[in-house]
Amino acid sequence: MKYLRNVSTLELFADKCTGCGRCVEVCPHEVFEIKDKKTAIIDKDLCMECGACQMNCKYGALKVNAGVGCAAAIINGFITGGEPSCDCSGGSSSNCC
Ligand code: SF4
Ligand code: SF4
Repeated sequence: MKYLRNVSTLELFADKCTGCGRCVEVCPHEVFEIKDKKTAIIDKDLCMECGACQMNCKYGALKVNAGVGCAAAIINGFITGGEPSCDCSGGSSSNCC
């Protein structure tokens, strides 16, 4: 399943990646693949922003704004014409979903 194109906040810092493969194991949507001993993002639009990769990468090589991919965020994005954000975290940086 693909989500809205070009809205995922997923970022990879390749210089920090050790190629341990943990992100490949935990990602439910097969976003990553190990290539040349480092992870590579195969298709960013497959990312549902669950946050599992960031939580499991102990080298800080991944960053994602977990939660903004939820249904409420997408609907709010359509209604307001802005970026998908459910804002249920009350403006804090804590994960909402
Ligand atoms: S979990 Fe982190 S260090 Fe390991 S392969 Fe993925 S991005 Fe690289
Ligand atoms: S946030 Fe979730 S779906 Fe997106 S790349 Fe990370 S583990 Fe995969």
